[in-house]
Amino acid sequence: MFPSIDRMRIHPLTGEFAQSANETAFLVHQLPRTRALLGYTLVFCTLFYLAFSVSDLVALGYGPPYLKLCAARAIVAATAGTCAWLAYHRPLGLAATRIAACSAEAVALACFMFIALHRPDEFHWHAMSLGIMLIVIYLYIPNSFANALLLACGATVLFLALTLHYGRLTAADDVTMVMLLVLANAFGALAARRFNQVSREEYQARVQLQHTAARDHLTGCFNRRHLHETLMRPDQLRTPDHHGLLTVVLCDIDHFKRINDTYGHASGDAVLRSFADLLQRMTRDGIDSVVRYGGEEFLAILPGTDLDGGIHLAERLRTRFADTSVMTDDGSEHVRTTASFGVACADLAADGGQHVLRDLIAVADKLMYDAKRGGRDRVHARCACSNPATGLRRVG
Ligand code: GH3
Ligand code: MG
Ligand code: MG
Repeated sequence: MFPSIDRMRIHPLTGEFAQSANETAFLVHQLPRTRALLGYTLVFCTLFYLAFSVSDLVALGYGPPYLKLCAARAIVAATAGTCAWLAYHRPLGLAATRIAACSAEAVALACFMFIALHRPDEFHWHAMSLGIMLIVIYLYIPNSFANALLLACGATVLFLALTLHYGRLTAADDVTMVMLLVLANAFGALAARRFNQVSREEYQARVQLQHTAARDHLTGCFNRRHLHETLMRPDQLRTPDHHGLLTVVLCDIDHFKRINDTYGHASGDAVLRSFADLLQRMTRDGIDSVVRYGGEEFLAILPGTDLDGGIHLAERLRTRFADTSVMTDDGSEHVRTTASFGVACADLAADGGQHVLRDLIAVADKLMYDAKRGGRDRVHARCACSNPATGLRRVG
C-alpha cells in the first residue's frame, strides 16, 4: 500500500524524501528496478575496468608490475561481479543493496588508487578517469545521496593527496586537476539531487493518483472501486500474523433522507462526514479498511477480528453516533440521528475462498436490514463460519 500523500516533503539538498518512512516506502517500491540497475551497471563498469588493463600493458610492459595491476583489476571484477550476481539472483533487501553498491564502489576506488600509484607519470590521465568514476558513483550506481557524496569526496581528497605527494606534476597541472575534480563532484552531486527529486516527484504524483482513485471525495473513505479491485483480493484479508478470522460491519444511517429533506443536502453531507470520521477513528490504521459502500452506507473490514470484536466496535459506534450532534450547514441547528449495523464473521482457514468477502458482505447486508426492520438503532450479528460457534446474535 502507498503511504499517505500528506507530509511527503522532498529535502531541498538531497532530493530525497525528508521523512524516512516515505523514503523507505519509495525505495521498497523501486527495489526490483534498483536491483536490476545495480546488476547491469556493475557488469558494464567491470568490463571497462578489465579492458583498461590494456593500458597497463602498454604503460608497463609484460612483467610482475603489470601482473600486480591485473590482480588488482581482478579483485574489482570479483567484488563487482559478486555484487551484480547477488543483485540479479538474490532478493536483496534495501540495506543489502546499499552494502553491495558501497562495497563495489569502495573496492574499485581503492584499486584505482593502487593502479595510479604504480603508474605515477600519468596522474593527469588518472584524474580524468576518476572524474568519470565520480559521475558513475553519483548517477549510475543506485545508492543514497549521502553514501555517494561520502565515497566520491573521500576518493577525491585521497587522490589529490596522492597526486601532490607522488604525481610529479607542475603547479599549474595540480591546480587544474583540483578544479576539474571539484567540478566533477559539484556537477555529479547536483545532477544526482535533480535525478532524486524527479524520481520522487513522479512517485508523489503516482501516490496522489492512487489516493484519488481509491477514495471517496466527500468522506475520505475507500470507494467501491478500491473495494472490488484491491480489498476483495484474498491476500488483503489477512493480518500479518495470519490470524484466520475476518469480520465485516455494514452500517446504514437511519432516516437519512429526512435529514436531507429537513435540513438540506449540505447538512446531510456534514452528517456523512461525521459518521465516516467516527468510523475511521475507531478502526485500526493500516489494518482495517473503511469503505463508503453506498450513499449513507459504510463498510468496515476488520481482518483478524472475531465476531465479538466486530460487535464491540459496532456497539461503540452506535452509542457514540447516537450521542453526536452535527451542526447544520447554516449553523442554526444541531442534527442528531442513529445508525443500524449488520456484523458478520468468517473463518478464513475454513471458509476463505475466492469470494469470502463478497459473501460476508451479503450476510452483513441481510443482518443490517433485519436491524432496520427490528426498529433501527441496533446491531445484528452472526457468525457466517461453516461451523458457527456463536450462531445468530442480537445486541442492543
Ligand atoms: P433508512 O433508515 O431505511 O436507511 O432510511 P434512509 O432515509 O436512511 O434511506 P434511503 O435509502 O431512503 O435514503 C438515503 C438517502 O441518502 C437518499 C439519498 O438522496 C441520500 N444520499 C445519498 N448520497 C448522498 C450524499 O452524498 N449526500 C447527501 N447529503 N445525501 C445523500
Ligand atoms: Mg439509511
Ligand atoms: Mg441505505
